[in-house]
Amino acid sequence: MNSSSRASAQDSSERIKVSFEFFPPKNGDMESQLWESITKLAPFQPDFVSVTYGAGGSTKQPTLNTVARICSETALAPAAHLTCVGSDKAAVDAVAREFQAVGVNHFVALRGDPPEGVGAAYQPFPGGYANGAELVAGLRALSDFEISVSAYPERHPESPDFATDIDMLKRKVDAGATRAITQFFFDNDTYERYVERVRRAGIYIPIVPGILPIHNFGQVARFSKLCGASIPDWLARRFDGLEKDAETRALVASAVAAEQVNDLVERGIDDFHFYTMNRAQLVYAICHMLGLRAEDTAVGAAA
Ligand code: FAD
Repeated sequence: MNSSSRASAQDSSERIKVSFEFFPPKNGDMESQLWESITKLAPFQPDFVSVTYGAGGSTKQPTLNTVARICSETALAPAAHLTCVGSDKAAVDAVAREFQAVGVNHFVALRGDPPEGVGAAYQPFPGGYANGAELVAGLRALSDFEISVSAYPERHPESPDFATDIDMLKRKVDAGATRAITQFFFDNDTYERYVERVRRAGIYIPIVPGILPIHNFGQVARFSKLCGASIPDWLARRFDGLEKDAETRALVASAVAAEQVNDLVERGIDDFHFYTMNRAQLVYAICHMLGLRAEDTAVGAAA
């Protein structure tokens, strides 16, 4: 990064928007870690914070508890992830209503992965929503929710080609989605090419890049294989040999992610979704390097 691009990243900090994704905790220790992270990141005043929904609906209650606490104890705008897996339409609608009752007006609507795990063939539940587009339409019929959906810069592993993949995105937009959040990626050219394809298909909603700071390179590499995201050789090389050196790994990880987001800023991107993995430190450092400053608003500043 040269000095003029550094300056341009700082100039654009005024218009940069961020959102943070968390997952529901499984035990008390994880709950403490989650809330420490939310408390640390809240002062960046994210556009919204989202809470994931476990495969097969396995975390409905923890997801509901987490968003309910966000609604009651913070001034943050929550978004609940919701999937079609393992439930018929009436049951999914009922869950959406439960979220709405605790104050959720924004869903990240997903088909979800098969209960057998990523890679198994997806079978819609009898009487259930078959895919993301059907779920978006179902939610839209329930209420005037804000609805975000997934997008895949390297295409979803089940999509035979980009045309099929982007057709599903188009169906989700036609059904009422107003924002797409991408699967994580590490090559910004790939993202840019994908957005060009999406625009050529007549889709104009924001395609917000999903940024994954790398806390554990081995884990990210394994997950990438499953979800069809590629790991460039240069990235593997950066973490090579640091397996036993957590401190240096964290420094490298924050440099890698900061380079990625600053390059995206130079390409005109001003909205970022961070997969926090319920850890604040790397995301905090990256937001700070993006020029954002934590405003002095306590997390408990609910009205
Ligand atoms: P869809 O949008 O319905 O489809 C995705 C793609 O798969 C489409 O592009 C389509 O081309 C292809 N496809 C779908 N069905 C078929 C078919 N029958 N034949 C051929 N191609 C097909 N998972 C969770 O369990 N919980 C979460 O909270 C969660 N959050 C996520 C958040 C984001 C931002 C992203 C990107 C993913 C998330 N996922 C989550 C993972 C997601 O559930 C999986 O990627 C799942 O496999 C697809 O769900 P989807 O909504 O993207 O599917």
